[in-house]
Amino acid sequence: MELEDKVIIVTGASSGIGLEIVKVLAAGGAKIAMAARKMEKLEKAATDLASTGATVIVVPTDVTRAADCRALVRATVDAFGQIDVLVNNAGYAPPASLLETTEEVWDVTLNVCLKGVYLMTQTAVPTMLEQSQGGTIINISSVAGKNGYENLSAYCAAKWGVHGFTEALRAEFEGENLRFHLICPAAVATPWWDTRNDPQADKVMKRMIQPDEVAEAVRWVLTQPNRLRIDEIVIRTHRSPWD
Ligand code: NDP
Repeated sequence: MELEDKVIIVTGASSGIGLEIVKVLAAGGAKIAMAARKMEKLEKAATDLASTGATVIVVPTDVTRAADCRALVRATVDAFGQIDVLVNNAGYAPPASLLETTEEVWDVTLNVCLKGVYLMTQTAVPTMLEQSQGGTIINISSVAGKNGYENLSAYCAAKWGVHGFTEALRAEFEGENLRFHLICPAAVATPWWDTRNDPQADKVMKRMIQPDEVAEAVRWVLTQPNRLRIDEIVIRTHRSPWD
């Protein structure tokens, strides 16, 4: 797929990996609908991008709310007429041991990381099915969707859920013009780590995967021929950033 004039929704577009994905895809000529909850940050990011010639709109969206997801899809089609790609990137995961995992922590983690992927996908797919060019869904998962990590049981459950959801949709839409990809990075240097009580986090940030490296993987997946089925890309560093 050529990126030029493709219409792409990116959730969690105001920060970290999502913002880098927007930058990389917009630089390739794609038109982007940027979604997140906090408008101030989102608008600042969009203004900076627009000044570089990018074509972007911002849509305040909480991916855990079906009405917001519908409004995002509607705003994208109204602005650009189609949806070629949905990047489900929004995520949040307060670290907690099992005994610290309150029902609230469980619900917010599963709602953003898993229910949000379901809602956005279910809302965008009908538009993609109506288009002759079909559509592509990219789910930003994690190595936590393939392995288990201590103090992240809710997050691991959510990301493993994203993998099951993605696999199920590949089966359900086999023969349709839809593609489903999983991108699974290990630790990525984003503001995400600001919330961690890890005294080493700042020092190891530069050893982590950088967010633009994940964005490049997304660009690579999108620009491969449609006849190739690229299910999953796992990105790690050779050495743990904490070593
Ligand atoms: P950041 O914390 O930097 O950014 C998170 C983004 O998601 C923000 O734009 C935030 O904006 C948005 N967001 C959060 N909750 C919602 C919501 N309910 N609805 C809509 N948008 C929301 O995170 P990262 O860039 O690090 O993470 C992005 C994705 O990458 C996540 O899915 C995460 O699981 C995954 N990942 C991250 C890794 C890492 O080490 N950083 C490693 C592997 C995977 P706002 O708060 O305004 O809504």
